[in-house]
Amino acid sequence: MNFSCTERPQIISALTQERYDMVVIGGGITGAGIALDAAARGLKVALVERDDFASGTSSRSTKLIHGGLRYLKQLEFALVREVGSERAVVHNLAPHLVVPEKMLLPLTDKSMSALMTSIGLKVYDWLAGVQRDDRRKMLSRMQILEREPVLNPDTILGGAIYAEYRTDDARLTIEIAKTAALHGAHLINYCKAETFLYAHDRVSGIRVTDVLTGEIFNISSKVVINATGPWVDEIRKLNTSLSGKRLRLTKGIHLVFPHAKLPVQQAIYFEVGDGRMIFAIPRGRCTYVGTTDTEFDGDPDDVRITRADAEYLIRAVWRTFPGCRILLRDVESGWAGLRPLIHEAGKSASELSRKDEIFVSESGLISIAGGKLTGYRRMAERVVDRVIREHFQDRSLAACQTKNILLSENALRNMHDVHVYQEHIHMELSRFDLPLHTAGYLVHNYGAQCDDILHHFKSQEINNKMLALLIAELTFCIQHEMVCSITDFMIRRTGRLYFDISSVIRYGGMVVDEMGRQLGWDLEHRQIELTKLEEAISKAREFN
Ligand code: FAD
Repeated sequence: MNFSCTERPQIISALTQERYDMVVIGGGITGAGIALDAAARGLKVALVERDDFASGTSSRSTKLIHGGLRYLKQLEFALVREVGSERAVVHNLAPHLVVPEKMLLPLTDKSMSALMTSIGLKVYDWLAGVQRDDRRKMLSRMQILEREPVLNPDTILGGAIYAEYRTDDARLTIEIAKTAALHGAHLINYCKAETFLYAHDRVSGIRVTDVLTGEIFNISSKVVINATGPWVDEIRKLNTSLSGKRLRLTKGIHLVFPHAKLPVQQAIYFEVGDGRMIFAIPRGRCTYVGTTDTEFDGDPDDVRITRADAEYLIRAVWRTFPGCRILLRDVESGWAGLRPLIHEAGKSASELSRKDEIFVSESGLISIAGGKLTGYRRMAERVVDRVIREHFQDRSLAACQTKNILLSENALRNMHDVHVYQEHIHMELSRFDLPLHTAGYLVHNYGAQCDDILHHFKSQEINNKMLALLIAELTFCIQHEMVCSITDFMIRRTGRLYFDISSVIRYGGMVVDEMGRQLGWDLEHRQIELTKLEEAISKAREFN
């Protein structure tokens, strides 16, 4: 089956008729990672996501594949070792999408001393097994200011650079989901798990609503996994198994500025007045800044950036980059997300551990909570190992394979391939009137799948090349990436709502029309999609 919304009837027909070894609830990075791991070992797997893939926390992170330097301060050595060493593994699986990024760490008189920082970074590199050439380097005040002239010369004492990776969280999730489908898993978005099915007091499947049609159907499965991130406890409640440890949700926001307003040359990890650390990360035509970490006890379906959140980040930027007098009105876009952490009495939001944990209910529901984007593969391995140990000992199933399963078809193999391919795409596009960063944007989003997009692009007779490109991307995403709605496309497949919002405002209506044409939508459906897009634009830019 193709990974396309045009195949929904066939996928739903399979979901209703087959008996699965495992059904996963939740199509964020955790659920997608588990589906891929289990399918690659030979289990028969289904996954349902009630909204779009990655529509929860997995499209609202800082978009770093990082070891979590600050967890060293909390003495979380095992966590730093695991996620730190996973960075290079995930980079090898998708080098176009998980890209090495040197992180600049400026030091001021409010920071840790240069000696302590040097030791801390050395331990960080050592725990993660960082290659010699990539290890941290301490820099003088002059070297830091030469690299980053927008930093405050009055406060900088020196600093360091060290290795991390940047990514796009939603695209990473989609590529994992597509790869799981290639390994035989049946995955579907816009299908909500409503309740559980039981046989002899054991969970034996789920009842699901197809959110797009209202159809209700059952999926039967030997094992059910709850990978619903911030909604894990809601699902445990449905299973009447919410006891013992619980989730504690903390909110984090990011703001996006035009790069010209915050012209940092590289990613920077800087300390703000209250002792917290914040990232400023250049991406294409923008720079984004984040994150906050505040308690959240509202509705996880409605997480928004408040004015206070936005002002906190803006003040932090003023202190560190005094020449960049950015204001609220300079914010182009932003997003807010929830960390699904595990409650620990007496700890503040920032102090809570990022470790993952597995809970198994009396009726057999397996829930996984906590964790990081970066550690998704190891989390999946732990869940699937346990499932096999407890349910499928009688089958000869492979050990975990995901360290060697490349994400995305015709994957590029390393950074050299990525650079050569990007140069090739740049040459191909150079005769068209498109922004300079287009080749970089396309290659980091889609990797070698750009061939397909370029094919669609060249086969169109539209004079406006930006619109032609959007339609080419849309066609690819409808055919291969299960796009069902304009927001799936503008937010999670292309990241445009965050990083190129003017293209969304300018071309959104035309893209909806083209989607309607390709998917057979009537006028009423097109209007609903337009309203959805307008709401998403407002949510990204309005803070109350
Ligand atoms: P989610 O992505 O939320 O997925 C859960 C899914 O379950 C959702 O899509 C939801 O719609 C679905 N669902 C819920 N109920 C149902 C139902 N009834 N039926 C079907 N589906 C359902 N980690 C890093 O490694 N690097 C970072 O830079 C980083 N930055 C972060 C910054 C912020 C501000 C935050 C909040 C987190 C950050 N993280 C980072 C952590 C990381 O983003 C999360 O750990 C990860 O995305 C969680 O993924 P998940 O799949 O568990 O949850």
